Amino acid sequence: MSKELKEWGLFINNEWVKSDSNEREPVINPADGKPIAYIQKATIDDTKKAIEAAREAFDKGEWPRLPPGVRAEYIFKLAKALEERMQEFSIAETENTGKPVKQVYDYDIAYTVDNFKFYAGASRIIEGIAANEYISEGTSILRREPVGVVGAITPWNYPIMMAGWRAISALAAGNTVVIKPASYTPLTTLMLADLIKQVGFPKGVFNVVTGPGRTVGEELARNDKVDMIAFTGSNEVGKRISEVASGSVKRLSLELGGKAPFIVFDDADLDAATEGAVVGSLINNGQDCSAATRIYVHEKVFDKFKELLIKKLNKVVVGDPKDPKTDIGPMISKEQLKKVKEYIEIGKKDGEILMDGSSFSMGEGFFIRPTLIYTDNNKSKIVQEEIFGPVPVILKFNTYEEVIEKANDVIYGLGSSVWTKDVKKAMNVAKDLRFGTVWINDHAPIPSELPWSPMRKSGYGASTSKYALEEFTVLKHVYVDLTGKVRKSWYYQIYGQKD
Ligand code: NDP
Repeated sequence: MSKELKEWGLFINNEWVKSDSNEREPVINPADGKPIAYIQKATIDDTKKAIEAAREAFDKGEWPRLPPGVRAEYIFKLAKALEERMQEFSIAETENTGKPVKQVYDYDIAYTVDNFKFYAGASRIIEGIAANEYISEGTSILRREPVGVVGAITPWNYPIMMAGWRAISALAAGNTVVIKPASYTPLTTLMLADLIKQVGFPKGVFNVVTGPGRTVGEELARNDKVDMIAFTGSNEVGKRISEVASGSVKRLSLELGGKAPFIVFDDADLDAATEGAVVGSLINNGQDCSAATRIYVHEKVFDKFKELLIKKLNKVVVGDPKDPKTDIGPMISKEQLKKVKEYIEIGKKDGEILMDGSSFSMGEGFFIRPTLIYTDNNKSKIVQEEIFGPVPVILKFNTYEEVIEKANDVIYGLGSSVWTKDVKKAMNVAKDLRFGTVWINDHAPIPSELPWSPMRKSGYGASTSKYALEEFTVLKHVYVDLTGKVRKSWYYQIYGQKD
């Protein structure tokens, strides 16, 4: 007998409600193409109701007015509640995204718990700069206050983590939130709403609206009652959000795509570098904004590096994401798998396929095996654009200047790495690369305490760290007269004469 699938509601004012549309959409497991739950297909009116709830909670509710320590207590309790239900969240995230369960449990969820704990602590030290008499007759005080209602729009590749980066950090800074998760992967964001209710957050502080980006996302961007959009996703949609939001004057924090260079000098530890290249390029099934998909190897060590890399890529276990032995699960969707295969076809024209995993299949799932492409064409689409699959591209270089120029020659500026034993060289690369993060002899770690900060067309605004919390605040200058005089010394400039 088949199990009845759960139908999730919209989460507005701490209540689960149905959409006005009376329409629902299936949520698909990419490992077998079958539905695992249903979500509401929200309308513009549903979105407006959620915005009203967040507006009311911000303008009249207690949340932004609570002492930071009390708000921090809520966020910390949320972290503990998630920690207690890690198993359940891991199963849902694995089924919904196709990520390997070992990554989901030990990284996505565990890291999100750590992020929440960090936000709880960091929210208590949000401050303006020290007061002073910058004008001798008065004292200036700087306050940092929440922005207001934040519309968080998240992508499908890190659902729970991005809910944390874009919504929970906003809450920690005293804002209220309406979050729209990606339609492919809404489940753990909806489950997070359950935890919000369980922990007892005031109503209207955290709202979830599921539905198409064009409807729900654009209404968040357009609506005058939303003060800020925190978006993580593609450049194309980021641009669209900027256009739609421009009519209402609101803050934007846009974390967009990436195309990370991975630079290997001839003095690098090749065993470590190839290990890092496998992990860096295949993390999250290769569907990662910081994936090491442009691997520049010094020509002196190119052949040895290639040989080692192929050996290691061949050992990668592709299969059922729920199996703890699996390294790579399926692509998120049939469309994504098609897109990845189209890039492999481009690779055939612009380079040479060194390992071809594109014919691999497993039942009805959207699987592909790692594929390695060599090219000498830095302008090829496989070097310039996000492939978002387990398809690293390897290139040769000769001089320092050449590799820096090639590495910087993309529109993106998110993650990057350099592999060398020479500290001087590594530090020069860190200075010369125009990417928001440079890893030296590793690729991917982002501690909660440090910012994930995009440069160039990868967007603007930091995630994680105290800088992310500042992102969700506005500065307010308060000036206090110290003289008590009727006529302050400068009034004559407008009215009357100087004493
Ligand atoms: P998309 O840009 O396609 O979608 C992101 C979100 O935007 C989804 O919730 C989507 O809704 C919504 N959306 C779609 N159209 C609109 C619209 N017109 N107005 C408002 N919202 C809209 O990104 P993906 O989900 O495909 O995610 C992958 C992308 O995210 C990659 O480019 C990746 O590099 C980037 N990313 C960046 C990160 C960073 O830290 N900089 C981290 C993770 C990912 P719906 O699902 O309903 O279409």
